[in-house]
Amino acid sequence: QAKSQGKNQYAFYTEFMKTHNDNLIKAEEELSKALENGEFEVYFQPQFDLSSNQVFGAEALVRWNHPERGLVFPNDFIPLAENTGKIVDLGYWVLENSIAYLAQRKRENRPAIQLHINLASEQLSDPHFVTLVQALLEQYQVPAYQLGFEVTETSILKDINLARGLLQAFKDMGICIAIDDFGTGYSSLAQLKNLPVSLLKIDRSFIMDLEHDQDDRKIVEAIIAMAHKLNIQVLAEGIETREQWKMLQAFQCDSGQGYYVSKAITAEEFNQGKPIVHLS
Ligand code: C2E
Ligand code: MG
Ligand code: MG
Ligand code: MG
Repeated sequence: QAKSQGKNQYAFYTEFMKTHNDNLIKAEEELSKALENGEFEVYFQPQFDLSSNQVFGAEALVRWNHPERGLVFPNDFIPLAENTGKIVDLGYWVLENSIAYLAQRKRENRPAIQLHINLASEQLSDPHFVTLVQALLEQYQVPAYQLGFEVTETSILKDINLARGLLQAFKDMGICIAIDDFGTGYSSLAQLKNLPVSLLKIDRSFIMDLEHDQDDRKIVEAIIAMAHKLNIQVLAEGIETREQWKMLQAFQCDSGQGYYVSKAITAEEFNQGKPIVHLS
């Protein structure tokens, strides 16, 4: 009895794994084809200096112009790209496109901005990645300080020693290192002092109820104060209201981004100066 049950279980798991693998193989093929066909596009969400209300840069956020499904957002394909390993190619594509956009702005005499790119943990575990980034900056003649890398606490902690070395090399080059979604992971500010971090991005979940939640207000104020003591700058993500914007200014938060001022827009829209809004 136990034996036949075991056998059934085995049959179940192999069947399960087979369909699971088939799906992953299909997803990998789809993502490769989409890359070849140029179906991905980098959008840019403006990032603002909160003391001057001026745009200083943008976060690069990838979208998929799917021939049948229309505009597809990252949450619907980044996890698949990570599970299939395709994230390495896709991430490189996003990086090259972002650097090319910086070079294009320079050719067109537009103001220099800083672009922040999201890195997946798979990219952080490749020691050759530093050389690849250096080669791209060289090829496009873009200075390293115009680049920022966003990493999450979780992605760094997968291999903390390897990640620390890579991030240090990037920081030494002049690239801004930012911790994304700060506050949602398990790390503390104490752990961060051992990492070459220039910017903390406070997760949207602490910002969304800022007007009504006194605890969130205290947490955000404390993060900003402690980060500043450690010489780390702070950016608030997901600012959706004027009240939140004003509060963050009062808390001396350095910078912010969010739907209140602009969602992610295309390069063309960014060139037209669409993100510039008047805040009083
Ligand atoms: P993230 O890096 O935390 O990016 C912020 C996400 O919040 C973006 O979603 C952005 O559009 C959204 N957002 C910005 N302001 C607001 C706001 O005021 N309210 C609300 N509700 N949402 C706001 P998006 O573009 O859908 O990207 C989702 C996630 O996908 C990103 O989270 C990032 O983790 C990942 N991602 C996007 N592009 C890339 C990429 O090129 N490489 C990698 N590895 N991950 C990427
Ligand atoms: Mg990000
Ligand atoms: Mg984030
Ligand atoms: Mg996020």
